[in-house]
Amino acid sequence: IKIDPVYLQDSKNAIIGSIINIEDITEIVKLENMRRDFVANVSHELKTPLTSINGFVETLIMNEDLPVNKRNRFLAIIKKESDRLKRLIEDILLLSSIESKNNLVMENILLYDVFKEVYEMINYIANSKKIDLQYNFEDEEIVVQAYGDYLKQLLLNLIDNAIKYTPEGGKVTINQLSINDEIVIEVIDNGVGIPKEDQSKIFQRFYRVDKARSRSVGGTGLGLAITKHIVHSLKGSICVESELGEGSKFIVRLPKKIS
Ligand code: ADP
Repeated sequence: IKIDPVYLQDSKNAIIGSIINIEDITEIVKLENMRRDFVANVSHELKTPLTSINGFVETLIMNEDLPVNKRNRFLAIIKKESDRLKRLIEDILLLSSIESKNNLVMENILLYDVFKEVYEMINYIANSKKIDLQYNFEDEEIVVQAYGDYLKQLLLNLIDNAIKYTPEGGKVTINQLSINDEIVIEVIDNGVGIPKEDQSKIFQRFYRVDKARSRSVGGTGLGLAITKHIVHSLKGSICVESELGEGSKFIVRLPKKIS
């Protein structure tokens, strides 16, 4: 709470009254803290790959006659870390554009078309991990009101995670159902699962259950934060059900019509 007193004085400067302005700034402080945490997190996340790139480039410059295999190994690390930087910057920009909804217009979009496009993009990754990618669409004609590429991004993030966090030979299933006035999309995997205490936190920016695993599968820690923002911008909801070691089920509910 912020209290600002203003004193009223007469012509001889004697205090004859006061106005006290009491303002509840909980929300403002909360937002300011979130912004500060975000900047600190972003700086840290950007610094890690940069430090590594810098170190390896310096080593290459200082040691001109490194054996070819060592040189190539260092170059591969530099490439991997710069790819990671690029993904991070792309995700940060995407998150901020979703928050500000820059110049976007709601369109009526055929969900099945978007899903097929995502499926084509991602099926080869599933194949390379021998993951059985299945889908069941209750209604291939269902239309969703959404902004530009948001639906694609939403599906991509959830299916990509399901594949990333499922070991070789696993199974990922995407279901589309309609319940009353809602379109329901389920992304189910039989992968590593998420501990109960982490389930409410995974939608926060940069939160990962296992940082090392997320890094090794190429995660930025922003995918689910982006997904949650997209779902909320479409007036929908997202939740997760998961058992550690057994798998996870992400459920997205979107209204058929946004009023
Ligand atoms: P990341 O880039 O690390 O994957 P996300 O925001 O997409 O970031 O996800 C946050 C964290 O939630 C992940 O690091 C992972 O620990 C957990 N997670 C997300 N999806 C799944 C899933 N399908 N199975 C198990 N864990 C998951």
